[in-house]
Amino acid sequence: MQRLDQNQNGYRGERIDVDATLDACRAAAHQHGWSPEPLPPAELNRCAWVRRTGRAEAHRIYLSTGMHGDEPAGPSAALQLLRENRWPDVDLWLLPCLNPTGLRANSRTNAAGIDVNRDYRQPRSAEAQGHLTWLEQQPRFDLALLLHEDWEAHGFYCYELNPHALPSLAGAMVNAVRAVCPIDESPEIDGRPISEPGIIRPLIEAELRPDWPEALWLGQHKTSLSYTLEAPSDWPLPVRVKALVTAVQAALAQFTATDQPSWAALPHTPSP
Ligand SMILES: [Zn+2]
Repeated sequence: MQRLDQNQNGYRGERIDVDATLDACRAAAHQHGWSPEPLPPAELNRCAWVRRTGRAEAHRIYLSTGMHGDEPAGPSAALQLLRENRWPDVDLWLLPCLNPTGLRANSRTNAAGIDVNRDYRQPRSAEAQGHLTWLEQQPRFDLALLLHEDWEAHGFYCYELNPHALPSLAGAMVNAVRAVCPIDESPEIDGRPISEPGIIRPLIEAELRPDWPEALWLGQHKTSLSYTLEAPSDWPLPVRVKALVTAVQAALAQFTATDQPSWAALPHTPSP
């Protein structure tokens, strides 16, 4: 598994046709019984795909990606997950591209130059504002998986936000991805000490932080368990897509294998 060594001062790798990828997502979602829910504003042409079991007590799992436009493996992984159609018997929400203008431009930010994933506290971007308008109408989720890439990473890693110490899915993800690409074994990643190889359990005081990412808003308002998955984007794109898909499948398998309490049984984290 060869590192490409081409990411200098940013992502320099393969790009995707994000509109073609989202068209293919639409086709696969329709084929497998998902329903679209448009995300405002309409001009961004984004949607959430939703598939519910019809059982009131079903677990609820949320997945999102395409937040950063220089991270093309996420939308490609969403497409592969939709096509493979291997899901547990849970209610599902899948958002394959939160920042389409960024993906089209291969830029981390949206077209207005805003890092949308730092914009979930007092949102200025149309992307975060519209996403939050939609999110506020959604129920609580038992698990959120946010698919990202890191152009500087030495391998796959993930962040875990798990304030109630629920059964962790991180080890299962890292072990599964180890067969696909290296794990980032650095003692410190992205300026944060690791908890285990490839696993960061950040100590975050949300109220002290002005620039909330999606994961922080979700942790405050919608879920007690979330993972931000980071594929290493100095490896070939198909490897990173496989790493993200493998991590998601491992998380879903571990989630259903462990007796996860339902959203209804957990205390809600108080809003700031
Ligand atoms: Zn990212």
